[in-house]
Amino acid sequence: MSDLQDLYQEVILDHQRNPRNYARLPTANHQAEGANPLCGDHVTVYLDVKDGIIRDISFEGEGCAIAKASASMMTSVVKGKSVAEAAETFKNFHQMITGGEDPCFDLEALGKLAAFSGVSAFPVRVKCASLAWHTLNAAIHAGENKHKEP
Ligand code: ZN
Repeated sequence: MSDLQDLYQEVILDHQRNPRNYARLPTANHQAEGANPLCGDHVTVYLDVKDGIIRDISFEGEGCAIAKASASMMTSVVKGKSVAEAAETFKNFHQMITGGEDPCFDLEALGKLAAFSGVSAFPVRVKCASLAWHTLNAAIHAGENKHKEP
């Protein structure tokens, strides 16, 4: 486990200990579940999307520190963004954590998500860090829930 210590930067630990937006979202009109069987992480993402804007977002789930912190940070980063901006952020984030010879990402645009840059050195952890984002993507593309308007 000591190899992983470097990954667990303060911001990650903070989100893992105090996950943001950790709840079921009563107003959700999109949701999806995701799992990373390699590590045992699973997450459900709830979205309230209107006119292409993520008005509200929350998640529930269990997993390792990286998966939990990533889900927490993902929700706080994309809340209020447009679906297109969220997709762009995911692309950027994914480039960063998968690394490669010539990763093409904008570190500055990632802001606090840059805390996960160390994940690129641990390929097995990439799925942990990207799970919530893949699940967000699935939730956005899931059909709208039929829910009763008041
Ligand atoms: Zn994990």
